[in-house]
Amino acid sequence: MHEMAIAQGILEIVADAAANNGAGKVSRIKLQIGQLTAIEPDALRFCFAAMAAGTMAERAELEIEIMPLICRCQDCSRSFAVEAFRLVCPDCGSHRTEITSGRELRVEHLEVE
Ligand SMILES: [Zn+2]
Repeated sequence: MHEMAIAQGILEIVADAAANNGAGKVSRIKLQIGQLTAIEPDALRFCFAAMAAGTMAERAELEIEIMPLICRCQDCSRSFAVEAFRLVCPDCGSHRTEITSGRELRVEHLEVE
């Protein structure tokens, strides 16, 4: 269950940021999570709530934005949403594509009190 490790990582980032801002409490956390990370938002919420108990983030509302898997074709420069992990350019059929979105795991925004 890798959500537990991820929840811990998020909590550390949040605790650092809150301490740097002299904040006492974290009220809201916005996360961006790429599709490719295979994180279950519900599992992450559950783990985070368990780990945040007794910390400054105890009552923080967790907002999770799932970032879709987007590739860019290196031959024709087209960006396209990937479905069913077909990493082939729908325009020119090239296999030379790079993932430009979908691997994110970041704290995008933090509200403190
Ligand atoms: Zn192409």
